[in-house]
Amino acid sequence: MALNRPRFGAGGNSDGFYAAGYKSSLDACEYLYRMGLSAYEYECTHGVRISDAFCASMRKTAQALDMGLSIHAPYYINLASQDEAIREKSVQHLLKSLRAAEKMGADRVVFHPGAVGDLPREQALESAAMLLEDIVTLADREGLLDAVYLCPETMGKKGQLGTLGEVLRLCEVAESVRPTVDFAHIHALTGGGLQRREDFEHILHKIERRLGEDVVDRLHIHFSPIEYTKAGERRHRILAEKEFGPDFELLADILAEQGWKPTVICESAGTQDVDAVTFQQIYDAACRDHVR
Ligand SMILES: [Zn+2]
Repeated sequence: MALNRPRFGAGGNSDGFYAAGYKSSLDACEYLYRMGLSAYEYECTHGVRISDAFCASMRKTAQALDMGLSIHAPYYINLASQDEAIREKSVQHLLKSLRAAEKMGADRVVFHPGAVGDLPREQALESAAMLLEDIVTLADREGLLDAVYLCPETMGKKGQLGTLGEVLRLCEVAESVRPTVDFAHIHALTGGGLQRREDFEHILHKIERRLGEDVVDRLHIHFSPIEYTKAGERRHRILAEKEFGPDFELLADILAEQGWKPTVICESAGTQDVDAVTFQQIYDAACRDHVR
């Protein structure tokens, strides 16, 4: 479903969700909706183990409340692995995620491309792109990509495949592959490289040039404060810890100016719901600045 403004939402269930007495993710959409949010990323990070009834129920609630849904596929995916068994498992994890997304009415499956391993980086990337091509062919045969995009994510650690350039290369495999831009991961990987408005602009324009305006307009974004070391990401933090970047205001200003309508999923550690509300407030303020 296309909203005429960005969607803001949470990845997984927050501390507040559980503190309010909720246990099932089937209540997440309504919980986030009541907070004024409009997106939910359901996390299958430890495997896709959900029933058809679960998917149908999630779909019904999300549709009734006009919530945008995405699925985060299992962490075990490694498209660059040279181990045949791991490659086959990665294929199955993605196909299962796509089937669940289709049943749920989620239009994006987010996944981590994999580890660089012992191969030269460029070779690992090409190996991942080839396997992704096979996955797209298999998924197409089941009609799974008619309404769902496969969204490889930019990663925060040096040993992982998933620099912005690498993710864009994977997106060239097929029209149905589009990026998930995790700005926290980019910030961590570049040693705090997102400091100025231009740093964000550079990323967004690069995506626009390579994949077209429609992709950047409907971009899938992950955002949260992050702690990092020389090796990249250490862990996701929360907005209340002011010492951790990147600064959402810089991105919000560009989104407001361009009128782009991405989905912004907040991944703060435990406060992803309230921090998503803050992101939305920052965005609304940026819109007011651009009207004036
Ligand atoms: Zn992720």
